[in-house]
Order: sequence, then structure tokens, then C-alpha cells
Amino acid sequence: MSDCIFCQIVSKHIPAQVVYEDEALLAFKDIRPAAPVHLLLIPKQHMASLADAQATDEALLGKMLLAVPKIAAENGLAHGFKTQINTGVGGGQEVFHLHIHILGQPA
Ligand code: AMP
Ligand code: ZN
Repeated sequence: MSDCIFCQIVSKHIPAQVVYEDEALLAFKDIRPAAPVHLLLIPKQHMASLADAQATDEALLGKMLLAVPKIAAENGLAHGFKTQINTGVGGGQEVFHLHIHILGQPA
């Protein structure tokens, strides 16, 4: 089994409150929410950080960004939201599986 916690969420070895899933992406509630709505969107395929993305990941990264407003709207944030990607130790990244934070307050 992978020792990556988000890969373990993808493989359902550890539970998460999943709010969106398709063939390539998974979104779930952050376990330590920093806002009334705090979601994490990840690629199912392991990628350690944005700094590890390759040109071959262009379509996947585009798919992630396009999914953000859709997932946000489905979770009460149609009026707007914040996004954050922490990259590397210097960027405050704690879980080394690429994720986009989606944060906001329902209207
Ligand atoms: P980052 O600093 O960008 O790496 O943030 C990692 C985020 O993952 C933090 O906001 C944590 O609260 C969140 N997190 C860690 N473990 C879990 C988990 N098992 N389920 C949901 N969120 C988690
Ligand atoms: Zn992983």
C-alpha cells in the first residue's frame, strides 16, 4: 500500500468525506477546515507537488482547474471562493500529493 495519505484516500484504504469523483479527480472535505467550506481537490494519479508536474500533465492540470468552480458551486460557493496550492516545504506543503484547497463561506 502507498504510504501517501491521499493515495490511500483514493484507494479507499482510509475514509474521507468525498464531494466529487470522476475518472481522474477526487475532491473531499479537509479534515481540519480553515473555512466553513474547505475542500481538497486532487488528481487520483500520484504527483508530489506542482513543482513535480511535467508537460505531459498539462491536460490533467487543466482538468483540475476547470473542475474547481463546478465543485465549489456544488458546495454552496457559486458566489465565489478562494483557491490555494501550497508547494514544497517552503510553501507550507504538508501532504506531498498535489492538491488544490478550495475555501469559502456559503452565501
Ligand atoms: P498542505 O499544507 O497544503 O499540504 O495541506 C494539507 C491539508 O490536508 C491540510 O489542510 C490538512 O488538514 C489536510 N489533511 C491531512 N490529512 C487529511 C485527511 N486524512 N483527510 C482530509 N484532509 C486531510
Ligand atoms: Zn499520493
